[in-house]
Amino acid sequence: MSTPPAHLDPTSAGLQRWHPAGVFFRAKLGAAVRKAALDAGFSCPNRDGTLSRAGCSFCNPAGSGTGLAALPLAGQWALQVPRIRARDPQARILAYLQAYSNTHASPERLRAVLEETAALPGVCGLCLGTRPDCLDVGSGEARLDVLASFVRPDGLPFMQLDLGLQSADDAVLARANRGHGARVFAEAAQAAAAHGLLVCAHLVHGLPGAGPHDLTRSVEFLNALPVSGVKFHNLLVCRGAPLAREWQEGRAPLPELEDYVAALTEALERLRPDICVERLFADPAPGELVAPAWAADKAAGLRLLRRELDHRNTWQGRLDFCPERLPDWAGYHLPNT
Ligand code: SF4
Repeated sequence: MSTPPAHLDPTSAGLQRWHPAGVFFRAKLGAAVRKAALDAGFSCPNRDGTLSRAGCSFCNPAGSGTGLAALPLAGQWALQVPRIRARDPQARILAYLQAYSNTHASPERLRAVLEETAALPGVCGLCLGTRPDCLDVGSGEARLDVLASFVRPDGLPFMQLDLGLQSADDAVLARANRGHGARVFAEAAQAAAAHGLLVCAHLVHGLPGAGPHDLTRSVEFLNALPVSGVKFHNLLVCRGAPLAREWQEGRAPLPELEDYVAALTEALERLRPDICVERLFADPAPGELVAPAWAADKAAGLRLLRRELDHRNTWQGRLDFCPERLPDWAGYHLPNT
């Protein structure tokens, strides 16, 4: 990491030093936003045998699912919305199809799920997690067409794809058994943007074979793409994931919290300022975390990151985009979004 400019006031502790997702969503939807996680019962090509049955090395067997897939989406929504409203009565609520790969289906099934989602009472849009190789890019783009057809005032006016990149290093992706390379992600992000869809990229720090600057290289890769958000994750060893055995056998050393904060600081300093940061630390589900122990205390991690950024008096995009001053995050928007 380079030294911040000496003329900046090093006492400016407590400033907002990254582009917060709240600012981004308020600009898009005019209010604070909460997400209701829904499970439409999709699978994943990297688990159902289409690509492999092993899954990505870090994926837990539940694939970030809620376990509610047996209920119709309306029933899942009805369970979650009162809890969200109790905490934040004014918030607008996005549906979040999070589990597995939510475009791994025929265009007809995808359309049916989107119709069900658009009919949820009070839904203001959709975040949809999927793989970049599940969008028919380069082969007719039928599933992207279906998604784009719902971006309308009486459908799902806000639509964001949560797309896994994890690392921009193909060797790291191969070792994690991702089943696709970085170029596939780049093509998917470009095709999604051309269809009027927002893209939030997911990155992981600490995958086996990744160097200490892997997160920064991945951010530089994203900077060249039409991406509007990023979720950073520290690598978790989850119960039942293939990585658990690698870790137990000593073949997958995990970064310490201080290593992750250093990598995150370096990556944030390179990140384009218009890209909002939706997540900085992975959020293990109850009972799934095997290691590292520090990952159970996300609040402590965030405190350490804030302290490091304050101490260095640095911020998102400082090195390549905005060296002189901390940006007004509310002033940053992607062109044409
Ligand atoms: S991480 Fe995602 S793409 Fe990989 S196996 Fe799990 S659900 Fe599939």
